[in-house]
Formats: sequence, structure tokens, C-alpha cells
Amino acid sequence: MTNKVLAETVIRVLSDPAITRVNFQLYGRFVTGNRYLSMMSLYSMGFIDCVVGVPPNPDLPPGTARECLYVPEHHRMHFQNEQYGSTSHIEKSNIAHEATHALFDSFYGATGGTHILAIEDEATAWLAQAVYFHRAGLLGGPFIDGSALAEALKLVYKLADGSGAFGSDGRICTVSPADAMPLRQAAAADHKLVGGRATIESVYNGF
Ligand SMILES: [Zn+2]
Repeated sequence: MTNKVLAETVIRVLSDPAITRVNFQLYGRFVTGNRYLSMMSLYSMGFIDCVVGVPPNPDLPPGTARECLYVPEHHRMHFQNEQYGSTSHIEKSNIAHEATHALFDSFYGATGGTHILAIEDEATAWLAQAVYFHRAGLLGGPFIDGSALAEALKLVYKLADGSGAFGSDGRICTVSPADAMPLRQAAAADHKLVGGRATIESVYNGF
């Protein structure tokens, strides 16, 4: 049974005007406000299960706290507690990040499993989180220099300077892989997707 309080929190984030400003494509995949909006019913109807409790990641050092996590295998979003994302800006933006993984599952997943390079999956989710963070005018930070979120925010500022209206005029901003390279490297470091783990893939089976 999905946790109704958490499902409503996700829906509130997805219906935030800042989410409608998230309009970009990176690595050939589209992340758009309309796509987030179309995901709302999956949460309200429980097709994406929202639960309290985040499972540990065996690939990360013990004690690494994860606050929020989407597990495509079970179409389930995990949260630290039932109040998660109700007030905290950074928590809301973390929900936007995880909702981006769910969006990939919905729009790119397929029976038999669609494989997406985890580094690209994460870099894209961090960029979506940063656009949301920037557009919502959220206050937070300072962020650790070189972290995925810090690099994603730098990229948002750079793109906004270039186009003058990154994502805000409904146009889909095409982000070049070259521009995204520092973000990609930071995401790889943050998620320990380096060395032999650089080729790890996310698998999305769709709904
Ligand atoms: Zn992620």
C-alpha cells in the first residue's frame, strides 16, 4: 500500500510551477515538464509505491545516508520518513531527482529492460534537480564544490546565460555532452561509477 502522505508530497513537487520549467534533452533523452505532469496519476493511483524506509546500497560505503530513492525493479520510491519533502527545499529537489528516474522508467522503460548507462542516468537526474532548484528559487547550500549538484547548478547557470531563458519559455534546451562533461564526471564520482563500475547500467522495465 502506497503511503498517501508521501504520494501527495511527490504530486505537490510535480505540480510545482518550477517543474514545468524543466525542459531539456541530454544524451538523446527528453526530460520535460509535461512528462512530469503526466506521471502524477502513477503516484495518486499507487502504480509508483511510496514507502517509508530507504534500503542501504551495498555499493556505497557503510553509513552513507540515502534520503530518497527510486527502485525501478519494484516501481517504488523510498523516503527517510513520512514528513520527507513537506518543508525542506533540498528534500523537495531530491524528490525531483528521484522522480526523474521514475520518468525514465515510464518513458524509456520497456519489457525485457531498457539499459541506460548509470552515469548518464544520474547526470540527467542531477541536472533536472538543479533546474528545479534554480527555477523554484530555492535557498540552500553552499554545496560541496565538485559535487554533482554543484556542477549541475553551474551548468544551469551557464546554459541560462547562453540562451537567456533556459527552460523557462517552454522550449526544450538541448544540452551538449561536452557542456555536461564536468557534471558527468562529478556524478560518476558521487555514485562511485568509476573504474570497473563505470559501465554499470540502470535497467528500466516500464509500466
Ligand atoms: Zn539518482
